[in-house]
Amino acid sequence: MRALVVGGGILGLFAALHLAREGADVAVLERGEPGEWSRAAAGILEFTRFSINRISARGYPASYLRMALRGDARIRAGAPGARWVLSYLRAWGREPPSGMWEAVRWLGEYSRSEYRAMAEASNDFEYAEEPLHEVGGDVGAALEEARRDPLSPRVEAGECCGMESLVYLDAARLSTGAFISRILGELRGLGARIVRAAALGVRPASGEVLLEGGRTEGADAVVVAAGYRTRALGVPVAPFKGYGFLTGARARAMFVDLRSGIAVVPLRGRSKLTGRFDLDAGGDHSPALRVLRRGREALGDFAVYEMAVGYRPCTPDGFPVVDRVGSVVVATGACRLGWTYAPALGRLAADLALGRGSPGALGAGRFGPPRGVPESVPI
Ligand SMILES: Cc1cc2nc3c(=O)[nH]c(=O)nc-3n(C[C@H](O)[C@H](O)[C@H](O)COP(=O)(O)OP(=O)(O)OC[C@H]3O[C@@H](n4cnc5c(N)ncnc54)[C@H](O)[C@@H]3O)c2cc1C
Repeated sequence: MRALVVGGGILGLFAALHLAREGADVAVLERGEPGEWSRAAAGILEFTRFSINRISARGYPASYLRMALRGDARIRAGAPGARWVLSYLRAWGREPPSGMWEAVRWLGEYSRSEYRAMAEASNDFEYAEEPLHEVGGDVGAALEEARRDPLSPRVEAGECCGMESLVYLDAARLSTGAFISRILGELRGLGARIVRAAALGVRPASGEVLLEGGRTEGADAVVVAAGYRTRALGVPVAPFKGYGFLTGARARAMFVDLRSGIAVVPLRGRSKLTGRFDLDAGGDHSPALRVLRRGREALGDFAVYEMAVGYRPCTPDGFPVVDRVGSVVVATGACRLGWTYAPALGRLAADLALGRGSPGALGAGRFGPPRGVPESVPI
């Protein structure tokens, strides 16, 4: 069986890994460096913090809007797109479709077991299950709320960086750069090819990919996991841009600071610094400087070794989509939980490509009836 995966972000790489493990002849088409956009992520894995999905839908876009009104951010016309905004307004305040909480619980469990298994085989990507501290919020109120929420992750009060913290006990972290090298090695070991090529479009009706020079590639299965660009296939996905810095800052614990909007992940000899949606808002590099400035306020001066730019591919309700459009499997990524859920979403995408399983709650139908299968779309 021959499979083509368009997009070598973390989701496309996991879809390719599952397909290659099943014996498929796999090629990943990636327009830039594999993992180029995904490596910006902090690398915090929150397998049991399901409420973040809701926050994605309600809190952050509102915060983006507030910043835009204050003149601190620019929302570029065309992004996130009229269909996205309309679906977002429809999703506002609503419970997700039935089965969604069960589906995301499975995404978390499956993904944790996959990362654990890969780390047990060889922990060359700095995987560690350790608590995530949240500082700068009202810890008492958050604990009270957690006690009332049946989906709450395990939390307790703690201390981090000289401040009272809320501690999420079931978190983990990894080095995104090291993990991308690891998964590429594993893919090559299974005979998969990583091809530097931009797919110019896809033909959902026939399952072909259009390449430069008017060439077309067909396969028994095509998976499109091109981040926010999957929206070309009719699934609403917005590009929430963000910046990740590898720094020489010293941090003793993994923490998120709610007031300054930064996240810090200690790695071997370095630490990863990222900003929250609202810090990352805007269309140029000044938001990147804002993230750095907040980082220096929290951690003192430090060297910067690397900067990566990435996107959080977010649907209007904050939950991912894995579905079929004609004979093509579409996988959107999972907004700010893209790394957390990638092993499981890759598994679902691979299963659909192999003709198994069904999208269930993660189907695109929750954003309205299917629009028919287009002959050809540019991506
Ligand atoms: C600052 C920041 C911090 C984050 N922190 C975390 C975190 O701590 N934990 C977590 O779980 N998630 C986090 N995320 C979210 C996570 O990084 C994303 O959800 C995830 O990377 C999305 O992966 P993806 O593979 O779906 O898409 P992408 O990473 O967007 O990858 C898509 C790939 O497709 C390629 N592509 C696009 N179009 C084409 C084409 N036409 N032809 C060929 N290739 C194409 C692109 O070049 C790209 O490599 C963070 C994101 C950001 C920006």
